[in-house]
Amino acid sequence: MIEVVDVTKRYGQHLALDRVSFKVDKGEILGFLGPNGAGKSTTMNIIAGYLPLTEGTVTVDGLDVLDDAAEVRRKIGYLPEVPPLYGDMTVDEYYRFVSRIKFVPRNERKSNIDEVMERVQITNVRKRLIRNLSKGYRQRVGLGAAMIGNPEVLILDEPTVGLDPKQIIEIRNLIKELGKTHTVILSSHILPEVSAVCERIVIINQGRIVASDTPENLSARLGGGKDLVIRVPGQAQPALDILAGITDITDVEVSGEREPDTVDLIIKSERDIRRDVFSAFARAELPILTMKPNDLTLEEIFIQVTSQEGIGNASSLS
Ligand code: ADP
Ligand code: MG
Repeated sequence: MIEVVDVTKRYGQHLALDRVSFKVDKGEILGFLGPNGAGKSTTMNIIAGYLPLTEGTVTVDGLDVLDDAAEVRRKIGYLPEVPPLYGDMTVDEYYRFVSRIKFVPRNERKSNIDEVMERVQITNVRKRLIRNLSKGYRQRVGLGAAMIGNPEVLILDEPTVGLDPKQIIEIRNLIKELGKTHTVILSSHILPEVSAVCERIVIINQGRIVASDTPENLSARLGGGKDLVIRVPGQAQPALDILAGITDITDVEVSGEREPDTVDLIIKSERDIRRDVFSAFARAELPILTMKPNDLTLEEIFIQVTSQEGIGNASSLS
């Protein structure tokens, strides 16, 4: 649906995007994650057709954002980082204004506006001035404005910034809901945001894509994939003695008690040792209560791929 190919953007001398490439499939909710200043808003502005790129191409549904700008804009609903809301308008007036500038046919405007208001749940405040609305409601108004004209794609730039935890959950659920009928790109500099909502994550750092995958695959690939966490009853020592008899274990770390009278152990190895671990504990008649891969949390991945050293060979992840 969206293809970003080798996009470079310079602001004067400053290289904001350096050969950025990624794809978004139809119907997908893509999380665009990166620290402040990474280039998220720049990328989204370019895809939405609000900012020219320096080099590269962006196509939306096969249409070039530069050559077919007007058509591309009709396909995209864009919620910028700072939505252009007019405080002195009522929600109704604002949506009529947005319908006009988006060239929604006159006879479809009313039903389109009513439908959008229902969808983002702001019908009850439609007669109120935007400046008198809470931040949470204003954000819904912005989200709804992006949806006017039924665009297939929604581009949402940090839609939950400045909201309280309850409003964040509401907006998140709303975005998940919208994801069922739209292709969505959602940017954020905070991880729980994208991991809660998105099927795939693209991580950008200093203008470069450093990772792109499902949350699960990202953890597996970066975590090595073969390390295990097991939970056993009692103390660590008997378990450590059993593990000492298994070849190819490079390290065991006691990660402590997460559940009363049990201990968690992180077992490192280059090969899949699950069967050996199972058999050894069975022979010793010490039950394994849980065994799971020691995946990195998304938090850890984010830190890894956005740290200065990076992960050595970051490009192989994209
Ligand atoms: P993000 O949205 O990930 O926080 P931005 O896309 O806003 O990042 O910015 C990426 C980089 O480009 C930053 O270093 C920022 O300072 C710079 N930048 C953004 N907009 C402009 C501009 N209009 N002029 C000059 N530099 C800019
Ligand atoms: Mg930004």
